[in-house]
Amino acid sequence: MNPIVYAIPVFMLTIVIELIVAARRRLAPYDLADAITSLHFGVLSQVAGAFTKVFTFGIYVLVFEYARLFTLPADRLWVWIAALIGYDFLYYWVHRAGHEVSLVWASHQVHHSSEWYNLSTALRQTATGALFVWPLYLPLALLGVPPVVFGAVALIDLLYQYWVHTELVGRLGWADRVFVTPSNHRVHHGQNDYCLDRNYGGILILWDRLFGTFAEERSDEKVVYGIRKPLASFDPVFGNLNVYRDIAREAAAQPSLHAALGRWFAPPAGWNTPVPHLDTSTVTRYLPATSRQAKAYAAVQYALSIPVVMHFIAVAAALPLGARVGYALLIVASCVSLGWWLEGRRVAVRIESLRIAVVGAIGLVAPQTFGWAESDGLRAAIVIWIGASALGLLAVKRARAS
Ligand SMILES: [Zn+2]
Ligand SMILES: [Zn+2]
Repeated sequence: MNPIVYAIPVFMLTIVIELIVAARRRLAPYDLADAITSLHFGVLSQVAGAFTKVFTFGIYVLVFEYARLFTLPADRLWVWIAALIGYDFLYYWVHRAGHEVSLVWASHQVHHSSEWYNLSTALRQTATGALFVWPLYLPLALLGVPPVVFGAVALIDLLYQYWVHTELVGRLGWADRVFVTPSNHRVHHGQNDYCLDRNYGGILILWDRLFGTFAEERSDEKVVYGIRKPLASFDPVFGNLNVYRDIAREAAAQPSLHAALGRWFAPPAGWNTPVPHLDTSTVTRYLPATSRQAKAYAAVQYALSIPVVMHFIAVAAALPLGARVGYALLIVASCVSLGWWLEGRRVAVRIESLRIAVVGAIGLVAPQTFGWAESDGLRAAIVIWIGASALGLLAVKRARAS
């Protein structure tokens, strides 16, 4: 069973706690549409992982089986600690490549595309990350770190980074100089001049101090979150692909094949191009005029999708490929539909009606397609959902007309 299934309820609960604490302190670190979008990126990342993890992890296992130089025992604590530190060291370089090499930035920028900073931002993960960075972890396989240990420390490193995405925890003294903490990771998400390409660490910030990329959070300059070329969209598929498109266009405009290939490996701003100064007071957040009713509708639909996504992650590996692809496409299309809805696109009501009709039809006529257990309870739930969704759509349409 994919352990992320168990983590999802914890993520949702802690997000609610963060919202409550923020409200009590009269802080507003959330925008509902942005948070739902972050969670949609997380969903797409997991959906993509259901197809790519077998491949990337499979290569790790092959290298370990046939090319390892040593054999480290999986039942020794020192192996686990050494593997975690080794993974965290490699993560530093993977993450640094994610900011300093255009090809990898095209994938990693997803995580930075929110202009807000809260626990939901942590879940804003790329869907294409697995494509390029997996070879950088193979030294651990060569050194003989058993696959089970590698998988576990990779998960520990990822889950550790969840809690640092919050504005509610201030400076933590010496810990800010040893570990990745909310304070130094806020700097990593800033687009202020002093924040760019700083604080790449996963668990230890010591790597940044060692390799000269550390910056301390400044008390005299508010961190402005996001990327210099704003995403300005709630569509998570577009958010995953738009920077690839931009770099491909720039590469196509190069005078030679050599220069075109080079564009993919240059820093995002280009070779020898200093990043221009940014006056952060001119930065505005992407806030399309979405009505409260429309936001509430999207929030309810997102909440109802959580058990479906958990089910997909749990059963994906056991589904036949065709069903797995179909199920994945249904989830991706649902995320895009709600994204367009939150952007207030005119076509969104029609697309959303179509989504309800398709999901409803599958649930009522052929639930076994995606491994949904056929029962009267499921049928009743789907009929209620279709009815309530139709009423919600009508209410939003009426509010828009008035
Ligand atoms: Zn980053
Ligand atoms: Zn982050």
